[in-house]
Amino acid sequence: MKELALLPISRTPAVCLGCTLLCDDVTIAISERGEIHCSEQCCARGIDWFLREAAAERQSVASGIRCGGEPATQGEAIQRAAEMILAARSPLICGLTSASLAEQQALVKLALQTGAVIDLDWHAPQTGNLVALQHTGRITATLGQVAAQADLCLLIEAAPERTHPRMGERFAWQRSSGWRFRTDDLSVESAPGLEAPALTELVCSSADELNDLIWWLRAFVRGIGDPAQQCPPGWKEAFDQFLVAVRTARGVAVVGGAALAGQPALALQVHQLVRELNEWCKTWLLLASEDRNAAGAESVLTWSTGFPRCVDLRGNNPDEAPARNGRIGKGEARWSRTEFSAAKLLAGNECDLLICCLTAEEEIAWPNLPTALREALLGLPRIVFYSSDHPLVAGADVAIPVAQVGWDSSGDLIRLDELTLTAPRIIASERLGLEGLVADLLEELG
Ligand code: SF4
Repeated sequence: MKELALLPISRTPAVCLGCTLLCDDVTIAISERGEIHCSEQCCARGIDWFLREAAAERQSVASGIRCGGEPATQGEAIQRAAEMILAARSPLICGLTSASLAEQQALVKLALQTGAVIDLDWHAPQTGNLVALQHTGRITATLGQVAAQADLCLLIEAAPERTHPRMGERFAWQRSSGWRFRTDDLSVESAPGLEAPALTELVCSSADELNDLIWWLRAFVRGIGDPAQQCPPGWKEAFDQFLVAVRTARGVAVVGGAALAGQPALALQVHQLVRELNEWCKTWLLLASEDRNAAGAESVLTWSTGFPRCVDLRGNNPDEAPARNGRIGKGEARWSRTEFSAAKLLAGNECDLLICCLTAEEEIAWPNLPTALREALLGLPRIVFYSSDHPLVAGADVAIPVAQVGWDSSGDLIRLDELTLTAPRIIASERLGLEGLVADLLEELG
């Protein structure tokens, strides 16, 4: 087995990509035998991330570059990939959420120049927060500002003790009081030693009931009508206590869980609640997304095309274009969060080439994808850039191992508070950078 080659310093400063908190106070040491030691600041989830990346790097380097399952050189792989793109009528590019901003920019450029559909991943579209933001706008603050100013937290369908384990520490929750409104579907941690405040919880039996709860809370906040007469029993007393806490707080940190992205109605309620709470007390909304750099990919795609997530660049009449040269430059960006999603296009057999980036996180998510979606993906001709072994690598027409940002390449990522942070390279590796590979591919395409 190949030994990991630690850069020539004993403890290497690192940024953990275990969740979107991107903790940058951790260091990594690798022994001569290749054992990885994370500094004590790193939580168990973060340690898992570093260990997973180390194992994935070893595997993908061992597999190497392949064309049609056979070992190939970098030049052969790029040439074959270019031939496939030139022959394709409807390429789909996806799998951007663990890439750095520069790598995402390279993939968006590839989509623009080849007239592809680009989606950030291949799941059902998760645009609840985006739609809400268009209605409400957004107030942001750094993690440090929130820690210094917010002494009350409200978690809505969020379990950061499980998904973002050091959130309590980063937000200095030991000085805070907290509330959580959630459904009983949400898996929450009851393990001792959590650095969260003692939470007062309201637990709903369904997402609809949680939606109602936020609606009634908004009615109390706005003082509209006489909500006390109609509000379900039990909630009024809780709302009264919560609003007393809000009135006396210096700041309120509202943390929305990942489920909001898939529930536009609930997301809109939460965004509106945050705006209305600002009439009472300075209030921030932090979205505890679980996909690594999806916020970065949304921003990069929006900067380049005007639209986030699912963008169609194929042109208005892709069927009339006999080859890429007939289509290139004609693809005006079109956006529909359902119509152009990867999941929808794959279900309708509307793609004839898949270009994707496969990371260790994608490997974990794979078994949870719907069977039909997995079969559709496995049935497509494909060019895969992979930093971890994945079922889509075997059988790929072109498979090229690529470096993972924060492990064997450095790059910029967007943190939970929307601050850009550079994740440094921890180890030297044989894997190539995705940005350079896509540049080579674009050059080959001419
Ligand atoms: S809280 Fe998140 S970023 Fe921080 S060490 Fe844990 S997994 Fe890594």
